[in-house]
Formats: sequence, C-alpha cells, structure tokens
Amino acid sequence: MNIVEKHTKQLLTPASGFLEGYTFSLNPYSGCAFACSYCYVRKSPVGLFRKEDWGTWVDIKANAADRYQAEIKKARKKYPSISIFMSSSTDPYQPVEYKNEITKSILEAMVKEPPDFLFLQTRSPLVTRDIELLKQLNVLVSMTVETDREDIRKLFSPSAPPISARLKAIDQIGKSGIKTQVAIAPLLPSTNSFSELLSKVVNRITVDDYFQGDGSEGKRTKTMGIYKIYEKMNLQEWYNREKYKQLVVALQRYFPNEAIFISKEGFLPPVN
Ligand code: SF4
Repeated sequence: MNIVEKHTKQLLTPASGFLEGYTFSLNPYSGCAFACSYCYVRKSPVGLFRKEDWGTWVDIKANAADRYQAEIKKARKKYPSISIFMSSSTDPYQPVEYKNEITKSILEAMVKEPPDFLFLQTRSPLVTRDIELLKQLNVLVSMTVETDREDIRKLFSPSAPPISARLKAIDQIGKSGIKTQVAIAPLLPSTNSFSELLSKVVNRITVDDYFQGDGSEGKRTKTMGIYKIYEKMNLQEWYNREKYKQLVVALQRYFPNEAIFISKEGFLPPVN
C-alpha cells in the first residue's frame, strides 16, 4: 500500500447526481484499501487520474477535522440545513483509520459543530469504535452487506471485512440506539436465508445493483469486466437487472414494505 499524508484544501464537496438530496459529501481519505472488484470509483476521476491501481494507494487527509470546522461554519451562513454523506468514494473505516483516526477526528469535530443529518456508509466493523460519538449526532449508519456467502465475498472483495463481523457490528450499533440499515449494494449471489439473517440485525434495508447504482445504468460495471467473474463461476443468472426484484420479494417476508428501499432512495436522508 502506498499511504501518503496530505493536506486537503476542501473537505466538504457539494453533493450532486446520486447524492443530490445532500448538501455535501465528505471523504476522509482518497483511495480505498478494500479494493472491491466492482467499485465504480475505479472509473471515476479519483481512480482514473491516478497511475497506481485502485486499492493500492490511500491519501490521508491529515487536516480533515480542521477543514471541517472551518467549512461548516461558512456553510451554515449559506444553507439553512446541512446534510452530509460520508463517504461516496472511499470507506471512512478502512484499515488506515485504525491508526490515523481521521474519521474519528471528524466525528469529534461534528459533535462540536453538528450537521443536521449525517449518513455514514461503511463496510467495516471498526465503526463500532466510535459508537459514543455517533450517539451524539443525528446519524444513520449504513453497513454494506452484499451477500451472506463468505465464498462470494472473497471472490468479489477479498480485502473487505468478513460478513459475520459486519453483521455483528451493525447489530451492536443498532442496539446502542443509533439508526441503522444494511445496504445490499451491489446485490451479489446469496443464499435463501439472507433476508431472515438480516431481519435479526436491522429493521431497514436498501437494495441496489450495478444497473441502478453505478451511475451509468450498468455501463460502467460492464467496462470493468465484472461479468467475467460471474461467467467463470457459472453465476450468470445473478447478473441480471431483474434479479433484485426476487430479493425484494424474499425481504418482504421479514420486513414491511416501508422498510425496504431501492437504490438511490435508500441512500437519501430519511424523511423521518
Ligand atoms: S469499500 Fe467502497 S470505496 Fe472502497 S473499494 Fe469497496 S466499494 Fe470502493
């Protein structure tokens, strides 16, 4: 891993596109060591303008907490309400966070100058370290759990945390009183017990797939050659824009309709 400390000039990025319901997106790091095969950020400017392969480098925004404090004060004068999505092109709890605690420092700054709403997207159990800070914010913690099959997780994202650790983490966060959801994003091949398993740890679910969630109706995923993984493992039936509907039907056995969100709607600030 090529890990470099940098000073960022701007931490809060005005949100647009998929995140248009937010005031800002916030990425404590550039780059991501989880290196998921299907990560669309590989094909975004962040990934494309870099010579190194996605997943082999991380830039640490060492001054992030200071920038947050300065920028939120300025933003307050412009926006009556501020909602923040953390993070859209990195995982705020990837391995460097254990030592560098950039995300933690931002949360500490947020406790002093809170946004009106924070959406925290991760796939790392490390988020449980910050439960006491999160309890002081209006936050929804969204844990990515794309499948309940560990063999599938290893196939598509071998450097990401195990599924069981993610489920345990989101269960713990929910039990501490913080709003939570599981984001099945992108939907990967799973077992028939997936919905029941999820119903034991969360009461809100978002389902997304390559065709709705990669920002290009699946074209970006196509250029990354992800379909080859499905072909190689004889899983082609799962690479299908209708497949998510089957999962939704299975989820409806355990979750009320109003607790199941599809693609973008599950990542927007909740109405309540
Ligand atoms: S955790 Fe998110 S940002 Fe990181 S590689 Fe995976 S999909 Fe991309």
